[in-house]
Amino acid sequence: MYFSLICVMNNTCGLSYQRHGILLQPVWDYFLRRQELLLSPYLPAGLAFLSHLLLCAPFLALDVVGRHCLALNRYKISGNSETAVCMRLWFNSIIRIFWNYVICVLPATALLHRLRNPEMPALAPTCGQALWQIASCLFLFDALFYFWHVAMHRIPWLYRRVHQVHHQNPDVFALMAQDASAAELLSLQTLALSSAALVGCHPLSEVVFHLLNMWLAVEDHCGYDLPWALHRILPFFGGSPFHQLHHRRFRGNYAPYFKHWDLLFDTYLTEESS
Ligand SMILES: [Zn+2]
Ligand SMILES: [Zn+2]
Repeated sequence: MYFSLICVMNNTCGLSYQRHGILLQPVWDYFLRRQELLLSPYLPAGLAFLSHLLLCAPFLALDVVGRHCLALNRYKISGNSETAVCMRLWFNSIIRIFWNYVICVLPATALLHRLRNPEMPALAPTCGQALWQIASCLFLFDALFYFWHVAMHRIPWLYRRVHQVHHQNPDVFALMAQDASAAELLSLQTLALSSAALVGCHPLSEVVFHLLNMWLAVEDHCGYDLPWALHRILPFFGGSPFHQLHHRRFRGNYAPYFKHWDLLFDTYLTEESS
């Protein structure tokens, strides 16, 4: 997602990957041929904003179709049924996200690009390397986010100044994945970039990690418990019902994706728990 930041934070740039990533090399070559464009300091923020809207679109479409197809409502676990109220919430959310990108994400991307001189490695990672790096990033980001999220709830000043905006609607909808204060948005991006830097990700793996990270955040806030959702396939995954409970009760279920940190520190909530 953040091509320029990826290379800025990533010390693997220019290093040789010992084994040629036969499957991924054509993909990586495609990006390399366009690196002039991809390393633009303005492109990552634009791509991130558009990717978020595109990933939200299927769930927003479900909300619209659900008003005419009542069968869909059995999968719905949150959301306002009034069309006018919904449209106003979506509009306000998009404006807030756009504003945060303009005042925060875009300047941060451009500034980091200026501070470092990014380079792209010639070789792609192998599929094994890419999978390992993406999985490691997800687990590390999940851990960092858990402790940061707990701190934002336990320290009143942090909650009011940083996290409260994200909790303004107890009923979630997909756009809320990035509907947070500028400070929170910046902190979460820093955690994601730090995770990738600590793992030593290849830029191609990191792009996939950021896209996956964005998709999982949208799924957490989608307001649907769909039969094909990831938490139905992977039992250690929290998913939308898990995060919906956090928004309803303003506590517990602090991890973004997996359940283990909440189980370990006794912050795990279910519908039955008080
Ligand atoms: Zn919270
Ligand atoms: Zn949330």
